[in-house]
Amino acid sequence: MEQVQYCRTLPVFDEVDILVVGAGPAGIGAAISAARSGAKTMLFDQNGYVGGQATAGRVGPFMTCYDTKNENMIIRGIFKEIVERMKVLGGAIDPKEIQAEESYSGFYKIGHAHVGPFEHECFKQVSTDMLLEAGVTLLLHTFFVDVVMEEKRISGVVVANKSGMSVIRAKIVIDCSGDADVAAKAGVPFELGNTRDGNIQPATLFFRVGNVNTEELKAHIRAHADEIRPFYGPFSWLIREKQEEWKIPRGEIGLFEGPEAGIYRINTTRILNTNGTDVKSLTSAELEGLRQAHEVFDFLKKYAAGFEHAVFLDTADMVGIRESRHIKGKYWMTGEDVLACRVPEDTIAVMATNMDIHNKDNPGGSFITIQNGSYFGVPYRCLLPQGVENLLVAGRCISADALAGSAIRMIPCCLAFGQAAGTAATLSLKKHIDPVDACVGELRACLEKQDVYLGGE
Ligand SMILES: Cc1cc2nc3c(=O)[nH]c(=O)nc-3n(C[C@H](O)[C@H](O)[C@H](O)COP(=O)(O)OP(=O)(O)OC[C@H]3O[C@@H](n4cnc5c(N)ncnc54)[C@H](O)[C@@H]3O)c2cc1C
Repeated sequence: MEQVQYCRTLPVFDEVDILVVGAGPAGIGAAISAARSGAKTMLFDQNGYVGGQATAGRVGPFMTCYDTKNENMIIRGIFKEIVERMKVLGGAIDPKEIQAEESYSGFYKIGHAHVGPFEHECFKQVSTDMLLEAGVTLLLHTFFVDVVMEEKRISGVVVANKSGMSVIRAKIVIDCSGDADVAAKAGVPFELGNTRDGNIQPATLFFRVGNVNTEELKAHIRAHADEIRPFYGPFSWLIREKQEEWKIPRGEIGLFEGPEAGIYRINTTRILNTNGTDVKSLTSAELEGLRQAHEVFDFLKKYAAGFEHAVFLDTADMVGIRESRHIKGKYWMTGEDVLACRVPEDTIAVMATNMDIHNKDNPGGSFITIQNGSYFGVPYRCLLPQGVENLLVAGRCISADALAGSAIRMIPCCLAFGQAAGTAATLSLKKHIDPVDACVGELRACLEKQDVYLGGE
């Protein structure tokens, strides 16, 4: 590619204590916890609203926040606060009410009890309210471009928006971009996808459908209950029967009812070989996702029980990227850690989400359940990138291999990482130290005071 040199002196737009890049679940958790602890906090996002995949991506339901025995809610803190407030507005159903094999849990038998059905608009509204109440400065329509480095520190973050390009200075930066854009620009090493087998989980453009006859749908699915396996949800039988007309590289139809009766999110399009860090790849994924979404809808309307009078409501505002960069941090969490249910001493969140691996070579995927304990812990070290002193990373791109990443990427988990990162950043600022030197005992005690469950009694 031809190279052009471009030199500009940029204005400093603002100077804050903590700058959170990306307002998805991780960024929301990070900014709320940082601002509540008293730090001058700014959160920016490329979109005109917050929520990331939980709003723009139409992703849902909240994957389970319970332990493997389905007994206790183990992801609490800010995630629980958001759910409570959404419940009051009628925009979420309490995960404790939801069992497996229901329309809310996509009729899956395994790993989908206590998911949390929610409306994306309500998530947007509640999380925005909570950010503003906490005192966060929100900056929307703002794209992260680059970092200004001084040795091993980020001294400024370069952004672009309608006002032009500028620099935001911050004492600590928290990268919640999902793709670890900041970390990558700052020189943090990373792996893209699964470097062992070359798989990057396929992308999916969600779409929503209304006016579905749930009773008819349920009756049909009950009649085929034996055909639903852990990762083959509903309608694998229909896809087999009509294989001449089914061109999507996926052998089931993921469909999840939300709090509003008859409205379903469809998680079925499958765009292979999408690199979420490459704009050409993202563009073709959007185009292919749109094409597939209408193809899936037409198929459902023609053949699926309960869809005869269904209407197409919308596609997601952006294609869903399940996996891209996994940064290399102070600890590299592995699938083995997840399966062994390890809870390290510096755990900042526990969870029991299963490994959910969509694979380009398999129309289903692998769904590896956790069986050796009630939950696993994610160490603080996974949020600490190698080589940059005033940076924390939260969200699906933390330091974990592709297998562990497939379990920890869920919305409640990312909110929990954000909450831990925001709290750690504020503690570090108060002591004039870098996040890597933060006292883990103090961090954990602070989190527990915020109703974060860290295992044990
Ligand atoms: C297809 C699919 C299905 C899923 N299903 C479920 C499910 O059923 N349940 C569940 O709990 N989880 C599910 N997930 C996982 C979950 O949605 C994501 O992993 C989670 O949202 C990641 O949170 P995050 O905050 O790390 O990143 P994101 O949600 O991706 O948020 C990142 C934010 O950063 C912003 N951003 C990125 N780059 C820049 C930049 N350069 N400049 C400015 N802003 C930027 C984005 O606009 C976005 O708002 C699914 C994900 C996908 C893709």
